[in-house]
Amino acid sequence: MRGLDGKLNGVRVHRLKDKYGTRGLPTAELELEDMRGTLIGNLGRGVPSIASILNITRIYSALGGITGLRRSLALAKEYAKKRVAFNKPLRDLPLHIVTLAELELTLRATTQLFFYEVQLLGRTECTALGVKGQEHDATMLRFVTPVVKAYSAKAAVHAIGEAMEALGGQVREVVLGAIWKHIYDGYMEDVGIARQLRDAQVNTIWEGTTNVLALDVLRVLRETKCGVLAVFKETVHQKLQPAAAHPTLHTAAAHVRTALDDIESYIYSIRHQEVMEAGARGLTFAVARALAGALLVEHAAWAAEAGEPGAEVDVAVAERWCAGGKLIEGLVVREPESIAQDVAMVYGSDAKL
Ligand SMILES: Cc1cc2nc3c(=O)[nH]c(=O)nc-3n(C[C@H](O)[C@H](O)[C@H](O)COP(=O)(O)OP(=O)(O)OC[C@H]3O[C@@H](n4cnc5c(N)ncnc54)[C@H](O)[C@@H]3O)c2cc1C
Repeated sequence: MRGLDGKLNGVRVHRLKDKYGTRGLPTAELELEDMRGTLIGNLGRGVPSIASILNITRIYSALGGITGLRRSLALAKEYAKKRVAFNKPLRDLPLHIVTLAELELTLRATTQLFFYEVQLLGRTECTALGVKGQEHDATMLRFVTPVVKAYSAKAAVHAIGEAMEALGGQVREVVLGAIWKHIYDGYMEDVGIARQLRDAQVNTIWEGTTNVLALDVLRVLRETKCGVLAVFKETVHQKLQPAAAHPTLHTAAAHVRTALDDIESYIYSIRHQEVMEAGARGLTFAVARALAGALLVEHAAWAAEAGEPGAEVDVAVAERWCAGGKLIEGLVVREPESIAQDVAMVYGSDAKL
């Protein structure tokens, strides 16, 4: 950024951007002219050279949304214990508790995805090329990085919005311990959920938008001639193995296996590039949900095995996440006629792609 003389190294700052969120991290428009640099890779191979950084920044981006959700949900849970509506604390109202439980499911699933990815990153960084398992981990890391980032970022924005709603919108007094204290509700800046929501939104854009990441998933499939699918399936089946000893997890594990088969059939059933592209987002999310399902099952089996407190809740979480066809929701073959209809819906009946 600066030369040895302390002066800016060919950088002209046009302006700081007026951003919707992430205001704690200023973004500027810069112009680089006659900047001195050092070549750190081969000329013309810039993108491959920074590819490993993309893994890391996408992992950070996924985490940004998940932590925002965790914080917002913690506030919503606490508020529900204190706020009385319809003569009961919110936490005793079935509809409210169902709403919070959905957010908890999203938090647990995305957290599992995130830590699985971090585990892969750690192993690939610490294992030499050619060592057993290295290639498998590297392939999975390449495949799941866009999947986890796209899914977590999107899910977090929706869930943080729900958490905001769970605090309502009126300033009111709530008893905290023996003290009366003002709580400024969800929509107001004071509580901080508004900031979480704004900050989370950018994760759906930077480091690749949802659609661009979904196309990246297709690229991995293409580059590996779908070989990555076999690695993915093997990984998921391994994660489901411990469930065999726990009958309460059999149904959840069966749902994940069915989802894997559906994902595979979906991919092999498509012949046209535009159909594949049109369904890329649905495919990406189905892969994310199926993987999260397997990780939740694996975790629940471990918790039950280890006699962890709350293991029965972990089992319920796995069951709930995997139930009722939810894993492959949105995995729809979008035939050319359907895409043509979409064009007409968006731009009018004369419009063509
Ligand atoms: C706050 C902030 C900070 C940033 N910081 C950096 C930074 O430090 N370094 C950096 O390099 N970049 C940075 N970016 C840029 C960011 O990575 C890009 O804005 C982002 O990748 C989207 O690209 P784009 O803006 O060109 O959008 P566009 O490519 O114009 O995309 C517009 C829309 O079209 C969709 N779209 C595009 N192509 C396709 C396709 N083939 N099929 C289907 N849909 C498609 C996208 O999903 C998106 O919804 C930053 C962005 C923001 C908001």
